Amino acid sequence: MRFTRLFAPTLREDPAQAEVISHKLLVRAGYIRRVASGIYDILPLGMRVLAKITQIIREEMARAGVQEIQMPIVQPADLWMRSGRWEKYGPELLRFTDRHEQPFCLGPTHEEVVCDLVARELRSYKQLPLALYQIHTKFRDEIRPRFGLMRGREFLMKDAYSFHADEDDLRAFYATMRKAYQRIFTRLGLVFREVEADTGAIGGRASHEFHVLAEAGEDRIAYCRACDYAANVELAEGVRDLPQGEDGPLREVATPGASAAQDVAAFLDVPLARVVKTLAFRLRGGPRDGEIVAACVAGDDELQPVKLARAFGADEAMLASEEEIAAHGGLVGFVGPISWKGLLVLDRRLQGGKGLVVGANRKDAHLVGFNPARDLQDPRFADLREARAGDGCPRCGQGTLAIQRGIEVGHVFELGDVYSRPMEVMFQDREGNRRAAIMGCYGIGVSRLLAAIVEQHHDEHGIAWPAHLAPFAMEIITVGKDGAQKEAARIYEELLAAGVEVLWDDRDERPGVKFKDMELIGIPVQLVVGERGLARGVVELGLRGETREEVPLGEAVVRAKALVEAHCRPPA
Ligand code: ATP
Ligand code: MG
Repeated sequence: MRFTRLFAPTLREDPAQAEVISHKLLVRAGYIRRVASGIYDILPLGMRVLAKITQIIREEMARAGVQEIQMPIVQPADLWMRSGRWEKYGPELLRFTDRHEQPFCLGPTHEEVVCDLVARELRSYKQLPLALYQIHTKFRDEIRPRFGLMRGREFLMKDAYSFHADEDDLRAFYATMRKAYQRIFTRLGLVFREVEADTGAIGGRASHEFHVLAEAGEDRIAYCRACDYAANVELAEGVRDLPQGEDGPLREVATPGASAAQDVAAFLDVPLARVVKTLAFRLRGGPRDGEIVAACVAGDDELQPVKLARAFGADEAMLASEEEIAAHGGLVGFVGPISWKGLLVLDRRLQGGKGLVVGANRKDAHLVGFNPARDLQDPRFADLREARAGDGCPRCGQGTLAIQRGIEVGHVFELGDVYSRPMEVMFQDREGNRRAAIMGCYGIGVSRLLAAIVEQHHDEHGIAWPAHLAPFAMEIITVGKDGAQKEAARIYEELLAAGVEVLWDDRDERPGVKFKDMELIGIPVQLVVGERGLARGVVELGLRGETREEVPLGEAVVRAKALVEAHCRPPA
């Protein structure tokens, strides 16, 4: 490709509103352009990298025995009504009607459509297992699209769905898919971690996420320094003792002006952990939909809202309003469990606690000497606290937990029959009984991967792609006029004929501009054809980020091709 023909509009300045490096670099280097919030054009350079990413994904899906299909982005509402998600799915589901007033949505995920497809064709256990995937556009009307391709509204996903005759077969295939994912992310040159995950709104049982480790990640993951325990902090369990106090009587004390746990601890001179924080939430979804719950954690802990939602089978737990709190006998800033009227749950770390301090549900007042086992009737305990660095490992009991930031690039679920039953994906088993197929589903954020790879592979000059993923394996830069341009043209044609993915910067630009763009775009192999070198019969060849060496002009093509082959070969 000649640079003069390439549609790669590069920028010298970072785009406005770009917060993370991958967003800045992908825009500046001419890979993407913003159309609207969370909606992007992908330009030729971006398409070339995506093609390499999806090639690896396709190879691994084939190896795992998953067949490629394509399902529609526009989905009829009646499928979603059958699964029950038309009501349940929140505002992320973009709904609209066609000219016949028929309701539709843009697919945020494809369980409904794939179940409908398979249900029509499935008769017998002999057709199982069956696994299908697509690489296609998803739309989710995200509340906070940001970070460029990282959290878009329209984005590219690889989504796979598997159907099995029984649980054992699903479990075996689930393990195969986890291995396929490990291979994919390894082949993409990523440092990643596989973690236990919340099953969220999709439901089901076992679930694992794959996180690319990067500071820009929106997720936090906890992992044990000693064993292989790793989980999203949304469900990670840390072990930590509670400092015990004396088991005195429950009594009210004045705490003027002290509302935050730190202030109360300082004022009463007790360890922060013994000052219980009580927060009120409104549950959305599940059997307790709309109810207000007060949740208690130790003063040095943070409450993890996903855990709280899970404890009540809800989809989400959102902070309650001042009015809602008042309606349940609480007072913001001084909420406590004793006179709270309504659902109440305490973090497990508080179980067996004595001499604790809690809010009195009255202004400027706390209760000391709190002992949940003694002072509450049938107290309910659940794991609510967010795991933090230094906690004990819940699995090996030896190591301590550390926390890292991650970008979720993959997510796999054992679904069971939560979709196949309502969608009636039925088959006749060996014994002639009609049964619902057992399902798994497996997603990869393909466009998010483009950003995640850049987060891990860049330097101060631009993107430093893993060489086999770069949009072009090599670039030729000409320094000087006619003579250099003529030699470069000859080398370029020969490399093209030899099948090398080569970009030739044939623009009439200053060398500095050309070098800057090459570094920004991140081309791994560089060949510089300069007037001065040519006078001595040499060109310069080297790798991005390393010093180039002089090579005799006559060997330029062979040496460049060899370097590309050695350096840019995709790992098998
Ligand atoms: P998140 O927690 O990041 O919102 P999710 O758990 O809702 O993601 P899944 O339903 O598991 O996402 O979707 C499968 C994969 O699709 C995710 O692992 C992620 O890589 C990708 N993905 C999800 N939402 C987005 C988005 N808004 N933009 C880009 N990629 C996304
Ligand atoms: Mg997920």
